[in-house]
Amino acid sequence: MLGLGVGSQTSSRRKTLPQNTENSSPEEDRIAEARQRYRIERKKRLRADGQAQYSQLADTYEEFDHDPWVEPGFTRGPVVEEVQVVIVGGGFAGMLTAIGLLERGITDFRVVDKAGDFGGTWYWNRYPGCMCDVESLIYLPLLEETGYKPTMKYTPAPEIFEHCQRIGRQFKLYPQALFQTEIDTATWDEAASRWRVTTSRGDELSARFLITAGGILHKAKLPAIEGITDFEGRAFHTARWDYSYTGGSPTVPMDNLADKRVGIIGTGATSIQLVPQLARAAKEVYVFQRTPSAVGVRANGPIDPAWFETQKPGWQAERMLNFTAAVSGDQPEQDLVEDGWTTVMWQNTQIEAGDPERATELERADFETMESMRARIDDVIDDPATAEALKPWYGKHCKRICFHDDYLAAFNQPNVHLVDTEGQGVREVTAQGPVVNGKQYELDLLVYASGFEVTTGLVSRLGFDPVGREGVRLSERWADGAHTLHGVLTNGFPNLLVCHFLQAGYGLNFHHYLNELTAHLVSIVATAVDDDITSIEATVEAEDAWLALLWEAGKGFGRYSASCTPSFHNSEGDRTMAAARNVVHPGNLMLYAAHLERWREAGDLPGTTVVRAVTAGAD
Ligand code: NDP
Repeated sequence: MLGLGVGSQTSSRRKTLPQNTENSSPEEDRIAEARQRYRIERKKRLRADGQAQYSQLADTYEEFDHDPWVEPGFTRGPVVEEVQVVIVGGGFAGMLTAIGLLERGITDFRVVDKAGDFGGTWYWNRYPGCMCDVESLIYLPLLEETGYKPTMKYTPAPEIFEHCQRIGRQFKLYPQALFQTEIDTATWDEAASRWRVTTSRGDELSARFLITAGGILHKAKLPAIEGITDFEGRAFHTARWDYSYTGGSPTVPMDNLADKRVGIIGTGATSIQLVPQLARAAKEVYVFQRTPSAVGVRANGPIDPAWFETQKPGWQAERMLNFTAAVSGDQPEQDLVEDGWTTVMWQNTQIEAGDPERATELERADFETMESMRARIDDVIDDPATAEALKPWYGKHCKRICFHDDYLAAFNQPNVHLVDTEGQGVREVTAQGPVVNGKQYELDLLVYASGFEVTTGLVSRLGFDPVGREGVRLSERWADGAHTLHGVLTNGFPNLLVCHFLQAGYGLNFHHYLNELTAHLVSIVATAVDDDITSIEATVEAEDAWLALLWEAGKGFGRYSASCTPSFHNSEGDRTMAAARNVVHPGNLMLYAAHLERWREAGDLPGTTVVRAVTAGAD
């Protein structure tokens, strides 16, 4: 869960937690030691450059950002059109928004995406071993509507991408899509109350609403390592996998790697899925680790198609709600999904404790969960030094917990080598490969599993800078971070609807979150159409009140995240105002959804400035 980027453990909380004393129990001593270890590990990783330690793919190597999944040479004529809505992004968010618009009878919209098809992150991420890490029954959208039955509890990426294409076909979204197209400019035309949008394909779109549904895993990032471009072997990011080099496919072994030395930078959720595949295929694998992930049991398996026949209509929505409650500390009577997530996240340990006893209880619960993760490593890994290096020393909400049955075991193979950088990360790459602690690792292939921009500025993630009223750019208005009502509406940018999760909500099941958010976006557009609203934007007062509400609600989360090792979850430990504004509504995402619902039901669009069309004959 994302928390505030600023703040620190309060001294009062520190005083109340168990310390090593003559009277403390062995368990209290272990917790106190762990707390100390968490501090040390965090400190090792804090960097003055924070989020600036990363660079974008194209800024490092131009060829890094090309799309491996389309034939080169695509051309089409420019589209010049008036539409109700331009949706930026054809992933889950863009598709759900489009379908919601269709359900409300709004058919004139365009979906613009840089990719060559629908799918968003599932279009780009085709690395071997890629699969959803949330149960497919709740993660894949519209299962009841499409009648599709996922084959596995955690289904492989190709199946998810195919499902996106299925949705695109069934809901007839393809004719509205402009693929392999990037937005160049988006400018609010005050006189016409329209967004004027131009694209890399020469399109000129005029839209009443601009919805940015670019996703949170859209901008792949690279560590800005010294000498990174000097490497003379092959290199690519996991979101641009090059099967022409590795051989194989997402379902076929990568035969070309049999004589290759492969390095992988990063040990997050992507790497955890990929390392076992590399371990099977490559001659030697070097895993460059900065911060170990906590890796729990996955226990994947096939879904019996007969199971679907036993379900009543509405089962998917019910299961999603049940999971969201189960991983938000709300403990539903029955845990329908019953998996690693619901086992690990059944208790929310980053809430404001209220009193010292409760704080101690929460810390103990968090410690026990992470201890079980650490114990699993001792159980699986043969070499004690490797086991020690693979142990995560931070709280369970600090990073996305991973689940995999083959990742840890891969380190028992003689061809797999953990290169533990002791929290420093790879800082130097030469023509031959990375250098760590003075040792040169000679590689044929270097894979960057270095993640995505999640909490950088929206403009960086969008790739264009919307120009609002009076020529003000979003990057100017948001120079000190995001200003929004509900994470969606922003002052000075009428009819711009932001679909992200900063200053909004968050769910471990991102599909559930997007269901709630896109329903809200669609409702705003439909209300505008029904009520002849030409423009709607947040007032500054409403933006400030919303941020104050989020900060108040998220006090416990801010404190918790300030003790975490840096990552995108806490804006890499940045202590700027922009990072402090990177906050989400804490707890069950339905609490955030309730704010949206109350706002919609209020009827008078509170906290917004609305301009209505003047109809002929009106006074
Ligand atoms: P992450 O940002 O989680 O991981 C990036 C990794 O790169 C981290 O281990 C980071 O270390 C490491 N790193 C960065 N710079 C260096 C360096 N200089 N040297 C060594 N290591 C470095 O990205 P992922 O792609 O793994 O995951 C991103 C998100 O994608 C996940 O949180 C998850 O939400 C999603 N995902 C979802 C999946 C699904 O099935 N639904 C599957 C895969 C990903 P450090 O931790 O120290 O920063």
